[in-house]
Amino acid sequence: MAVTVTLIPGDGIGPSITAATRHVLDAAGAQLEWEEQLAGMAAVAAVQTPLPDETLASIRRNRICLKGPLTTPVGVGFRSINVALRKELDLYANVRPAVTMLAGGRYEDIDLVLIRENTEGLYVGVEHYIGMGSDAKAAAESVMLITRFGAERIVRYAFEYALAHGRRKVTLAHKANILKYTQGLFLEEGNRIAAEYRGRVEYEDRIIDATAMHLVLNPYQFDVLVMENMFGDILSDEMAGLVGGLGMAPGGNIGKDVAMYEPVHGSAPDLEGKGIANPTAMILAACMLLEHLGQHEVAGRVRGAVKRTLAARKTLTPDLHGSATTDAFAAAVAEALEPH
Ligand code: NAD
Repeated sequence: MAVTVTLIPGDGIGPSITAATRHVLDAAGAQLEWEEQLAGMAAVAAVQTPLPDETLASIRRNRICLKGPLTTPVGVGFRSINVALRKELDLYANVRPAVTMLAGGRYEDIDLVLIRENTEGLYVGVEHYIGMGSDAKAAAESVMLITRFGAERIVRYAFEYALAHGRRKVTLAHKANILKYTQGLFLEEGNRIAAEYRGRVEYEDRIIDATAMHLVLNPYQFDVLVMENMFGDILSDEMAGLVGGLGMAPGGNIGKDVAMYEPVHGSAPDLEGKGIANPTAMILAACMLLEHLGQHEVAGRVRGAVKRTLAARKTLTPDLHGSATTDAFAAAVAEALEPH
């Protein structure tokens, strides 16, 4: 029976990569029914608010959502709707796999997963200016909030993920040497939870900056990585770079009740309207969604078709040094699907 999924096409390149993804999923016979909703700039234009109640209600009802990228105006205007969605729905675990889909890059056979805490850290949005004399913006201050509860549940999620997916090791990356309270608490909780999994999953902790370097020098030493919000934001982009860039990286935002899948990349305003964005990340995000729903067979066939299409190198988009359009790539993936 088809499952109803809230679909937010998003801003910029969002609608075109969403259309491409739907084309592939329809061709693969995914048992999904879409409930299309607005968010971001598209929602501001239509109903004057970036996150309509109806959109939130739809996600809460269906408990599952596929989302395109949403534009966040820099410095001014509304706060990030992505952050708001994660907080509002308590999607505390951001799961970002980095898997080689196209051979011939900097590395072969990368298979890493970064688990990022999604609701705390520096992204809680508690920040303000500090005025001095006539300068109202003489300084600015942001709060990094780490709670014992938040640290425990994300580290536990990482270990449970490792067990469920047959992974060998969890690396907790932190900056407890400098940020002794916030990062110290994160590490303390990490060590405590890790002890419960001793003998079942290997564990190590590493300083975040060294982790960033070692990811480039020898990514194969890592497996599952877990860290707080901003560190995870930055390192997951670095990991996307190991497998061909942002156009290839999907992510899931998981809570107790709701799961929301999306490409890691943003709305790419520089590509808007050109029809040449790479839809792979969005298609792979849809595969993660299918797996979450237990539709493993369809997900496997879609992944296989994406891999074959990339390997054939005939319809690559410009970010992968080809000249194909978004639609041509999606058509090639649909064509490459094995029958079920
Ligand atoms: P971006 O990810 O949109 O783009 C960074 C670079 O990667 C650009 O050169 C872009 O052309 C390229 N790129 C991104 N996706 C691509 C794809 N599918 N195919 C080919 N090339 C691709 O990051 P940005 O420019 O910093 O941000 C643009 C907007 O997106 C901002 O408003 C930002 O806040 C928002 N954003 C949203 C999300 C999200 O919705 N989850 C994530 C990141 C950024």
